[in-house]
Amino acid sequence: MGRVLTRRWLVAALALALIVGLLGAARYVSQRGAERAPAAHSEEAYRKARLQMVSTQIRDMGVADRDVLRTMESVPRHAFVPSEYLDRAYGDHPLPIGYGQTISQPYIVAVMTELLDPDPTDRVLEVGTGSGYQAAILADLVAEVYTIEIVPELCAQAGERLDALGYENVHTLCGDGYYGWEEHAPYDGIIVTCAPDHIPQPLVNQLADGGRMVIPVGPPGSYQVLWLIERDGDEIRSERVMGVVFVPLTGGPH
Ligand code: SAH
Repeated sequence: MGRVLTRRWLVAALALALIVGLLGAARYVSQRGAERAPAAHSEEAYRKARLQMVSTQIRDMGVADRDVLRTMESVPRHAFVPSEYLDRAYGDHPLPIGYGQTISQPYIVAVMTELLDPDPTDRVLEVGTGSGYQAAILADLVAEVYTIEIVPELCAQAGERLDALGYENVHTLCGDGYYGWEEHAPYDGIIVTCAPDHIPQPLVNQLADGGRMVIPVGPPGSYQVLWLIERDGDEIRSERVMGVVFVPLTGGPH
């Protein structure tokens, strides 16, 4: 009798151990699944968010250039924002990228890119690399992108990010973009994504005949006017586009 009881206890204890073990394994598997599931889900969620962004924030707001719209639908903006803002990567606003700087609002990126009227053979200069997002958009639309960033840490990060994402036609320079990048001038397009209080003459000088420059100009800490500058031989034409808010251009002769 005593031995039978002991055996029953033993069987019960083994069964219990088995159940606990199985439950543990099941929990482990489901946790791993849960860790992987959002990542797999996120790529699709990001793609949907991107299409939604282009549809409601950009196309509905008047940007019509098909190539610009297509490019903005494909470049993974979430790869250019700090991880704490991933859930807001496709929102209708700029986002902080550290060092007091921002990645521009998607609509502004689209408007400025459309104003440049990019051509597949163009060589474009960007002043203010920041996250590298605008440079990546341009990289899909033109032949070569030259981009300058004055904050060394942002410059290094953007360079690494663009390399990792495979943007081979983006060339980064750490320095003061007020003076442009003489070595590769003239440029068919120049895009300035920080605001000087006047148009830098070196940039005008580096604009090719028939080239276009898109630049916000105005006092720091206030709103600025976005200008489209076009060179036609020796003639420089300028057109006001709209009011914008950019971080200041911090270099230059001051
Ligand atoms: N185009 C960027 C937006 C960056 S915000 C993007 O897509 O994320 C503007 C950037 O201009 C900041 O990173 C700032 O550090 C940089 N900047 C300011 N003055 C500059 C200068 N003189 N030369 C180059 N970059 C400058």
